[in-house]
Amino acid sequence: MDLPAPTPEDIAITLGIIQGKSAFLTKPHKTEEDRVVDIRACIYRLQVSSSKEKQEIIFSEFCAKYLPTMMSRWVEGKMLPGEPPDFSALVNGYLWVLLSAYKLPIFAKYLRSAKPIAAPGKSFVSLLAQRITRFGILNEHIPLETPLQDGIKKYILEPTFWAVCLLRKGWTLSPRRFEPGKILGMPEDIVVELLPQLETWQNQRGYKALADESRRLIFLLTNVDRLYVGSIWRGWKGSTDCALPGCEETINLKACAKCLAVYYCCPEHQRAHWNSKEVPAHKPMCFKTEY
Ligand SMILES: [Zn+2]
Ligand SMILES: [Zn+2]
Repeated sequence: MDLPAPTPEDIAITLGIIQGKSAFLTKPHKTEEDRVVDIRACIYRLQVSSSKEKQEIIFSEFCAKYLPTMMSRWVEGKMLPGEPPDFSALVNGYLWVLLSAYKLPIFAKYLRSAKPIAAPGKSFVSLLAQRITRFGILNEHIPLETPLQDGIKKYILEPTFWAVCLLRKGWTLSPRRFEPGKILGMPEDIVVELLPQLETWQNQRGYKALADESRRLIFLLTNVDRLYVGSIWRGWKGSTDCALPGCEETINLKACAKCLAVYYCCPEHQRAHWNSKEVPAHKPMCFKTEY
C-alpha cells in the first residue's frame, strides 16, 4: 500500500514542536534519510521537554496518524543480502521512531489489526528477527569489555538494543495463539541464527542494557513459560487487561468504542478512567484510527 509520507513539518505540528508550517526547516529536503533525521530530531525534542504522560498523549496521536506510514517505511527499508546493513540511515531511523511509541496500546492495536492499512505490520516480528541476525555480522568483532568506541556504541550496539526491545515486545503480542515450541511469526531457521547472537550480546559488558534485554529475549524464546509471558503482556497495559491502572482483570473485556485500543472489565472502570484525576486519564489519549 502506498502511503503518503508525512513531512517533518507535519510530524512537528503533531508533536507540538511548532505551531504552523512556517519557521521550521528552511532548507528543502532532498532525501528520505534527511527526512527521517528531522523526524527523529522532533521526537527527541519532545522526549527531553515533556513529562511521560504528555508524551503518551502526543505519541498516541502520532501513532493514530502516522504509524502505518512509519511501519511501511521501516519494512521497505533495504537490507540487501551480502551487504553490511545500513546502520545509520533509513532502517535504523524508522526503527528508532517506532521505538518511541511501542509501549502504547495503540501500537499493539496496529500490530493486531487485520485491515489492509496494517498489512506491513504483519511481517514486523519476523523481519525484526531477520534484521537482528544481520546486526550480528557487524557485532562479531566488537569486544565484550569496556571501553567501547563511541561510534560502535552509537551505530551498532544501540540499534541492536532497540531491535531486541521491539522484538521482545512484538513477540508477546498474540498471547492467545501462544503454543509450546512455536515461536510466533518467527521462522525456526531465524531463531536458530538469532539465539547464538543473543548469547553473545548477553555478555556485552560494554552495553549493559543490551545484555539485559538479550537475556530476557533468550528466556522468552527458549522457555515455554506462560507466567513469564503473562508478566510481559502486562507491559501492554490496557491492550490485554483492563486499562484502568490497578485493575488486572483479563476476561470479558470490552474495547473503548472510539479508539478500540484499550479494554475495560466494566463500564464503571471505563468511566473512572476517562476523566480521571488520580491516574493518567484515557480521554486525551483516545484517538480513532484507520487501522
Ligand atoms: Zn477493571
Ligand atoms: Zn479510547
